[in-house]
Amino acid sequence: MTRTALVTGAARGIGAATALRLAADGFRVAVLDLREQDCEETVDAIRAAGGDALALDADVGDTDAAAAAVARVVDELGAPTVLVNNAGILRDNLLFKMTENDWDSVMSVHLRGAFLMTRAVQKHQVEAGWGRIVNLSSTSALGNRGQANYATAKAGIQGFTKTLAFELGRYGITANAVAPGFIGTDMIRQTAERMHITYEQFVEAAAKEIPVGRIGVPEDIANAVSFFCSEAAGFVNGQVLYVAGGPKA
Ligand code: NAP
Repeated sequence: MTRTALVTGAARGIGAATALRLAADGFRVAVLDLREQDCEETVDAIRAAGGDALALDADVGDTDAAAAAVARVVDELGAPTVLVNNAGILRDNLLFKMTENDWDSVMSVHLRGAFLMTRAVQKHQVEAGWGRIVNLSSTSALGNRGQANYATAKAGIQGFTKTLAFELGRYGITANAVAPGFIGTDMIRQTAERMHITYEQFVEAAAKEIPVGRIGVPEDIANAVSFFCSEAAGFVNGQVLYVAGGPKA
């Protein structure tokens, strides 16, 4: 049976690598991001590899847009029984300089977005009696200077994930979180800019602190998401897996 997966924030970075990996695993993949045209590269790569994909635009924090996106997936690709809540933004600043807008924007995308998308998708998972939800947390959930908003959201994602595991497990649905460390994506480029250093300087300094001696690549995270979405992971529920090249707690 071919199942459908929906990956948010999948135009680039970790989301794009995850969409490609899930397509390679045999899922049809709905590739969602803020602008539909930004999803085309991911969709083309999936189709070029023989997979089935659909580009979708939605702001995950918008109730109507989230519901409409899920309805489109149902109509055009099949009911989504796998959901990867990956869309994310940074609005870093030290607390005394952080604006209400910095706080609200981060909560809207990470927490409200994951909530709205999951609420819209779980109906289809319950109907199917099977589902996989994977939420993107972060090592920043453990606390990180300049990220009061983001760290709070990523810790919240862990509570959300564990609650979904309790509520939905009886329907054959698992919910787990992947908490990446330092992964080379545009998000990290933004952070380097904010710190007034080059991306290369930032990466070199970070790699020195990581036990495996390198920063992560999006595929490192996609591999972990793939495991949680697999049949084999059916008894793994409510877990947070740090994928950071070294232990985190
Ligand atoms: P990225 O390269 O910035 O990609 C994030 C994607 O999400 C972008 O395409 C972005 O679109 C999209 N997006 C933002 N707001 C959205 C919204 N409201 N609705 C739909 N899509 C939206 O980020 P990434 O590094 O791949 O990160 C992916 C996830 O992993 C995020 O949840 C992030 O917090 C988490 N993470 C990343 C790292 C890391 O080191 N990179 C570490 C830990 C956790 P636009 O580009 O148009 O804004």
